[in-house]
Amino acid sequence: MAKSDIEIAREATMQPITEVAEKIGIPADKLLQYGPHKAKLSFDFINSIQDNPDGKLILVTAINPTPAGEGKTTTTVGLGDGLNRIGKKAIMALREPSLGPCFGVKGGAAGGGYAQVVPMEDINLHFTGDFHAIGVAHNLLSALLDNHIYWGNELGIDSRRIQWKRVVDMNDRALRSITNSMGGVANGFPRQDGYDIVVASEIMAIFCLSNDLNDLSARLGDIIVAYTREKKAIYARDLKGPGAMAVLLKDAISPNLVQTLENNAAFIHGGPFANIAHGCNSVIATKTALKLADYVVTEAGFGADLGAEKFFDIKCRKAGLKPSAVVIVATVRALKMHGGVAKADLGNENVDAVTKGSENLARHIANIKKFKVPAVVAINQFVTDTAAEIEAISAACKALGAKAIVASHWSDGGAGTEELAHHVVELADSGVADFTPLYPDEMPLWEKIETIATEIYGASEIIADASVRKQIAELQEDYGHYPICMAKTQYSFSTDPSLLGAPSGHVVPVREVRLSAGAGFIVVVTGAIMTMPGLPRVPAANNIYLNDDGQIEGLF
Ligand code: ADP
Ligand code: MG
Repeated sequence: MAKSDIEIAREATMQPITEVAEKIGIPADKLLQYGPHKAKLSFDFINSIQDNPDGKLILVTAINPTPAGEGKTTTTVGLGDGLNRIGKKAIMALREPSLGPCFGVKGGAAGGGYAQVVPMEDINLHFTGDFHAIGVAHNLLSALLDNHIYWGNELGIDSRRIQWKRVVDMNDRALRSITNSMGGVANGFPRQDGYDIVVASEIMAIFCLSNDLNDLSARLGDIIVAYTREKKAIYARDLKGPGAMAVLLKDAISPNLVQTLENNAAFIHGGPFANIAHGCNSVIATKTALKLADYVVTEAGFGADLGAEKFFDIKCRKAGLKPSAVVIVATVRALKMHGGVAKADLGNENVDAVTKGSENLARHIANIKKFKVPAVVAINQFVTDTAAEIEAISAACKALGAKAIVASHWSDGGAGTEELAHHVVELADSGVADFTPLYPDEMPLWEKIETIATEIYGASEIIADASVRKQIAELQEDYGHYPICMAKTQYSFSTDPSLLGAPSGHVVPVREVRLSAGAGFIVVVTGAIMTMPGLPRVPAANNIYLNDDGQIEGLF
């Protein structure tokens, strides 16, 4: 039987983090070490490398996810190891996992098989405390807000119009909607409140889009926490929160360095949701990696319709990043599901279904072209894939002028991505990339939403109620230059999660818009969006325990 991810991770021969750092040009005394295998980088050092030339940025994205699994993180790590194997200086930049999914259904998020980052247990649990710091900074603002109301509410906050919830890094549906300040006069004024998971905090999005601590403080001040009865916005800065919040975040904001199973450097930093936020690791980590490596491999959450679009239109636009190449991860299993095969039948060869399902991949390939960045397809190989099925993907890609390369990093580590690595280098070095966002800043908000829906999702139109249209028109005045952050199901190009493959001509209903003034984008909600997940009937937590040797079991 194949070893589990945690068994493989435990057998890793890790190098001291000082040695890993030295290989990418970071002196040991510039590290803030968290034990032997994790470290943060000092800002002294980050400031000192600002004149270094930038390496090339490579995005790993994927087809629309299915329960069959695609493996973006696994492929990001595998490709990074492969690039190092062929003699290139490459660093990976990944998101930090959230505790909620660890104890829920998804398990760990540090790669898989022989393409993982380690120490796997630490990365998945607590790590260097960044999420804790973000949660506390968030809740400090909540406490300041209720305290302001308690002491007389000088700002005239309408307690029915408070936007700022509280957060905790756990899947806990019991906290979605609560009443706070119960118990009498000394406890304040009772009001409706609720909790989101930490990764859904606007502070997480801000944290990941900030260039440095000053930038972070300024953006924290721009958070809108509530409105008055006259609908005047109340900002975090009105509550005099940002100074203390930035103090709580001062260590968290520096990137975390760890290593892969093959002892190559990886930054893991920040982890915003990919629906109500943009779903990529911090700008600081990506930019620092670019100053230190010739190639930086990074991942965006969900499929390319959401992940890559937001990576380009939000992160790259705001941070001035210019990606050089894109890797689109596809699997035979997932394409079979897009081609109509049920999960239970994925074990049987079905070339026709793979060909049919490749429509989904084809749409993503065509979409990436719209951003003027060259793309290659990585077929993340599962042991059950047949040669004929793999050939079907290659043929479908060829028809679109894209190359599909089989990568076996899950079984073979970096040795399994050498061909992919060579091709990625060729694409990135070719100079054909001429990154262009999908829409310009000046385009009106409504048209921006329409552009994403028609160009990327293949929709015929967007629709919205009069109240939503009015809200968009109001936002247009002060925030018309902001990019759009789409909150849509990750499973389909449409807003119907069961519509697989490459649907077109569908209608995208805009149900709600939310302003994230601190993060600097407008969230457009197209369906039910969960910002506080619940646990399944049998949570992963039920099978996680310490064995007799004190090792963690059940984390996968
Ligand atoms: P994503 O980043 O797209 O969510 P991950 O890379 O985290 O996906 O992979 C999800 C799960 O799938 C992991 O547990 C990983 O071990 C598993 N996985 C990925 N690639 C393969 C593969 N080629 N064969 C078997 N399992 C895989
Ligand atoms: Mg991932």
